[in-house]
Amino acid sequence: MARSGQPLLGKRLHSKSTGGRPIGRRAFVKASVAGTLTLAGACSRRRPPAGSADVLVLGAGLAGLAAARRLLALGREPLILEARQRVGGRTYTNTALPDKPEFGAVEVGDSYLRVRTLAEEFGLSVHPADWRWFRQLTLHVSGETLAAEAWPESPANQLVGEERAIAPNRLEAHYLVKANPLKETAGWDGPQWSEQDRSITEVLREQGASAEALRLVNVAGNHNHSDEVSVLGPWRSALAFSQETGTGHFVEGSGALAAAMAEDLQPRLRLSSVVTEIRQEGDGLFVRLLDGSEFTTRHCICTLPLPVLRSTRLNLPLSDAQRQAIAEVQYTQVTVAFFDAEPFWEQDGLPPNMWTDTPMERFFPRLSTDGETCIGLKAFINGHGTRQVDALNESGFEDLALSTLRRIRPASNGRVRYLGRHRWGADPFAGGAYAAWSPGKVATQRAAVLAPAGLVHFAGEHTAVGAPGMEGAVRSGEQAADAIIEASA
Ligand SMILES: Cc1cc2nc3c(=O)[nH]c(=O)nc-3n(C[C@H](O)[C@H](O)[C@H](O)COP(=O)(O)OP(=O)(O)OC[C@H]3O[C@@H](n4cnc5c(N)ncnc54)[C@H](O)[C@@H]3O)c2cc1C
Repeated sequence: MARSGQPLLGKRLHSKSTGGRPIGRRAFVKASVAGTLTLAGACSRRRPPAGSADVLVLGAGLAGLAAARRLLALGREPLILEARQRVGGRTYTNTALPDKPEFGAVEVGDSYLRVRTLAEEFGLSVHPADWRWFRQLTLHVSGETLAAEAWPESPANQLVGEERAIAPNRLEAHYLVKANPLKETAGWDGPQWSEQDRSITEVLREQGASAEALRLVNVAGNHNHSDEVSVLGPWRSALAFSQETGTGHFVEGSGALAAAMAEDLQPRLRLSSVVTEIRQEGDGLFVRLLDGSEFTTRHCICTLPLPVLRSTRLNLPLSDAQRQAIAEVQYTQVTVAFFDAEPFWEQDGLPPNMWTDTPMERFFPRLSTDGETCIGLKAFINGHGTRQVDALNESGFEDLALSTLRRIRPASNGRVRYLGRHRWGADPFAGGAYAAWSPGKVATQRAAVLAPAGLVHFAGEHTAVGAPGMEGAVRSGEQAADAIIEASA
């Protein structure tokens, strides 16, 4: 296809494996069965037309959308293939529920220059975060509910020595921040830090953390388990966070940013297009979808999260390190759930912001759009704790959540209503919330995910350099677009 021409949609579907004949129903079913993704409702029944594209962009999260916008601005013709029936990926404002809860990304750092510029461009407001509701904390540890101020003297506090004064939610930072050798966020994943590339547990032990501190750190630490994650990632995040002057949130929801970015791209965006195979043959790249249709290109930006790539057939010139990284890089498991609530906290006098060692882990205040009123709760369960709650069906999960609340906050009885949850670990198009790097492997895993493989350039949160979350995703997409422009100049 001509560089600046429209993608050739409308061509009859032909497949190499069928010797160029149109793919029939049996081949379609075979492809569907071979695809290891769970696809409830994701695939359209009518076979979409196949064709070639100037640049294929896989995934319409912030990275894919940013890449496509940049390509378009530079005169190229991207075609975006997105598995879901919506754009935004891990930014997910659920507009079907009251007050549009955010199941994915919320916080927009003051340092998020690209995200904030895009917000301005689209007329979206980012309101500064108001931490009033978060400053005070209720704890529930070893069967006891108490205000965080009472923690140091509580019989539930089994910590040892000086750490007794530290609330469970601050223990990890307490130990890691003072041991953090990083002076700048750039280069945290370089070989120069290899000697420091140890598990979080190892550093916590070295710093004198007790067995109880290690237990509490693993209740709701922002990782799967402290044994399994390199300390370099949390050190990088802690440094970035300390340099942040504040945060905000999208008044219309983070999903509004993705929707606005997708607006200009509409004719070049195909929803319900589940990629099942990416293969390179000579100087051509072929991307096959679950419905059996195929697209060809000379340039591709792949933003699919690594757990998705694990279940995608890849016939690419990948290095051993790349294959290993795709197979091994873990993603932090997160389950988010929302509840409406009458203000039971006014009755028992304890803050609605809760850290617990129950299977529900944490409850955060859910605020009205103006940030003034607490209208409910947001449960946030992460790491290995998600295994138990994710195994429950909807009513089992609702029972667990409400009975836990009744037990730890009796005043909540009959005053809380479950709205819904999202299990990011069980999401076939995410596989988790964010990439987490393994101890001893940071330099090799990071170099591997950053390198292109033949005609494929990778982008997305896991490839972000120097910026976290949404900002990192946007920048990674733009950088991949620039790399393609450069490669084809
Ligand atoms: C619970 C949670 C809280 C978070 N909180 C914050 C926060 O407060 N602040 C912040 O900055 N960041 C936060 N993040 C991180 C942020 O959401 C991500 O870093 C960012 O949105 C990732 O964008 P991406 O484009 O790299 O990936 P994604 O958004 O995952 O985009 C990938 C796209 O690929 C699609 N896809 C997957 N498989 C296929 C397939 N087979 N075929 C076709 N398409 C496919 C997906 O549907 C998706 O749209 C949070 C994330 C989660 C999950």
